[in-house]
Amino acid sequence: MRRCKICQKEAVVFFKSHRISLCEEHLKSFVEKRVKEAIKSHKMINRGEKILIAVSGGKDSLSLWQILTNLGYEADGMFIDLGIPGFSQESWEKCEKLSRRLSRKLFKTSLEEIFGMNLLDIAKLERRVPCASCGMIKRYIMNNFALKNGYKVIATGHHLDDECSILLGNVLNWQVEYLRRQDPSLKEENGFVRKIKPLVLCSEEEIENYARVMNIDHVGKGCPLSKGATSHFYKSIMNQIEEKMPGTKLRFYKGFLKIKKDTFGDEKPAELKPCIRCGYPTTAEICSFCRLHERIKTKISQQNPEKMEEPLS
Ligand SMILES: [Zn+2]
Ligand SMILES: [Zn+2]
Repeated sequence: MRRCKICQKEAVVFFKSHRISLCEEHLKSFVEKRVKEAIKSHKMINRGEKILIAVSGGKDSLSLWQILTNLGYEADGMFIDLGIPGFSQESWEKCEKLSRRLSRKLFKTSLEEIFGMNLLDIAKLERRVPCASCGMIKRYIMNNFALKNGYKVIATGHHLDDECSILLGNVLNWQVEYLRRQDPSLKEENGFVRKIKPLVLCSEEEIENYARVMNIDHVGKGCPLSKGATSHFYKSIMNQIEEKMPGTKLRFYKGFLKIKKDTFGDEKPAELKPCIRCGYPTTAEICSFCRLHERIKTKISQQNPEKMEEPLS
């Protein structure tokens, strides 16, 4: 029987990367401490700031909600219903359940409400994989909602495995602009609220175990539309490396953050100006969200010409 390194009680997990066995209680404090450390070292949250968490119903965002609440932060949830049959409804129910347990607010909006179509229809219309539009849409909705409702910070459940897979992709393709912007805490600037990733020092395995011992009910599988995404492939590669050389993920990611500033400098990325339609920061005249909205409206009016507004007579 493995024993907890801290209290000698029976251990429930062994984390190879840290060569540490932990009991339930110390697993919980181990994870929460790492989140606290990430928040502190990347100046993610100022005292008294309200946080809006993008919750999906998965283990990562729901664990993040639980952890931030346990650490004493005021964090509310925001769920975006993508309208994916057999997935979105269940995801919403898991979020609702945790919001009741934590006694925190949970907001909801849906693509159907905003665009009059779900993500699959949007992807068909755009002739792109759903993930291509999904990220942009979610970032826009979250930012807009936070600005209008007094949230200074948006937190997402990206953990170490997510960041390593993004980093690997960015390095393999030498995406210098993306590398410059890949950060656990993106400062607020004209029209954007601060965006933080408090789980970056925790691996997926750690979060999975945390969710289990905290009895966080969550959807078991990731988004069914993201099957075959390159990020999953990068994750499996990183896991193979980690298996042979425990601690690689953390070294890879922390090393990147350390050299980032010297290597990529503080050069300002492309100048942003407010979208002429909605005010969202963009490099173009009209932001990509408004352009997408426009294309959808055109499509809907072509399909249902009778629904078009009557001209004023
Ligand atoms: Zn213990
Ligand atoms: Zn716009």
